[in-house]
Amino acid sequence: MFEQAVQVSEAHRQGAQYMAGSLKMAMKGCRECKTMHMIASPELGTCVDCGSELQVLDI
Ligand SMILES: [Zn+2]
Repeated sequence: MFEQAVQVSEAHRQGAQYMAGSLKMAMKGCRECKTMHMIASPELGTCVDCGSELQVLDI
């Protein structure tokens, strides 16, 4: 079970790297709440929990 989850995660990571050239996969998040979301729109928006502006996270 755990090994399979690792493989899926690894594949996802490699896929993200593969697409980095044309479509940059990025995450946004709230540093206050430590929440992370995949960026799906040009606007980052604000945290629904605390109202802070979401920031682009470098992974
Ligand atoms: Zn927050």
